[in-house]
Amino acid sequence: MATASLTAEYAKSGKAGCKGCGKSIDKGELRIGYVGKANFGATAWYHYDCLWADTDSLKSVDASKSAKVLVQNYDSLKGEDKKKLDKDLPKFCKEASTKASKAEPKPKSDLAAEYAPSAKSNCKGCSKPIGKSTLRVGFPGKANFGATAWYHYDCVWKESVLLAPIDTSQSLEETVDGFEKLKNEDQTKLSSDLKKNCKAAAEKEPPLPPKMAADYAKSDKSECKSCATKIAKNALRVGFTGKANFGAVAWYHVDCLKKCPQEYSKGIKADKPLEELVDGFDKLNKDDQKKVEKEVKALASPTGAPKRKSEGEESAKASPAKKGRK
Ligand SMILES: [Zn+2]
Ligand SMILES: [Zn+2]
Ligand SMILES: [Zn+2]
Repeated sequence: MATASLTAEYAKSGKAGCKGCGKSIDKGELRIGYVGKANFGATAWYHYDCLWADTDSLKSVDASKSAKVLVQNYDSLKGEDKKKLDKDLPKFCKEASTKASKAEPKPKSDLAAEYAPSAKSNCKGCSKPIGKSTLRVGFPGKANFGATAWYHYDCVWKESVLLAPIDTSQSLEETVDGFEKLKNEDQTKLSSDLKKNCKAAAEKEPPLPPKMAADYAKSDKSECKSCATKIAKNALRVGFTGKANFGAVAWYHVDCLKKCPQEYSKGIKADKPLEELVDGFDKLNKDDQKKVEKEVKALASPTGAPKRKSEGEESAKASPAKKGRK
């Protein structure tokens, strides 16, 4: 794996800002940076102590190498600073990569809760600012660029469309990101309000059927989300609108559709006409309409697996549907 190159020196002027804390680095002060990571290939500089806080960048540093190898200019540093680096670099790199490996496989929680670190966020419900240190509750990934859409505690319960799909049988730690960091009284409050409001929301808002689309690929640039191979130009493809990055369609080969995640197909109503379920359905040719209809209806069937008719199809290696929550 490519490792990030670091460099260290005593600041030649007081002009450079620290990428960590944003404050300037004094002339003569030891600064350390990532070569080529600032604009125009410049070095992204940090105060010595601030470097270690940026674990996102730090995890790309190969901690198995010594500071002498990793840090350009190491030899020109003062002895005491070399010693500091020898000790701190492997220690913090290891911490950063442990943190990263722990953080990555974690699926996105349905909700997040925290005390607002600043007064800069506005409530998505009432649009008024959320005061600093106020308890706020949000939906991860529901704001622009995958950010969390934050709400005042009392405002969040009005979002029944977003609350309805939340599975309240899971532990609160799993459902709510940051739950364990809340004060005890807020944990209790949140726990009971969440159960109550999600239940009410689910009764009020039946799960929305997913938006689907079908067409003939306009180029060979799209990739099937299931088999990860390119979808040929003009090939029939079926997908879920809004499930790919930036609200794009997550496309599948029509034969791969059955392998889509269950959360995508949840809510498909088999009794709905295909024209309503699948955008562009009416523009497909008759044979392809049949294919799409069969696969989409199969997703809507209670087992989640296509019902096979004796049509001499290839025997797909689809694993038996993993369902059966009691
Ligand atoms: Zn700093
Ligand atoms: Zn509000
Ligand atoms: Zn495929």
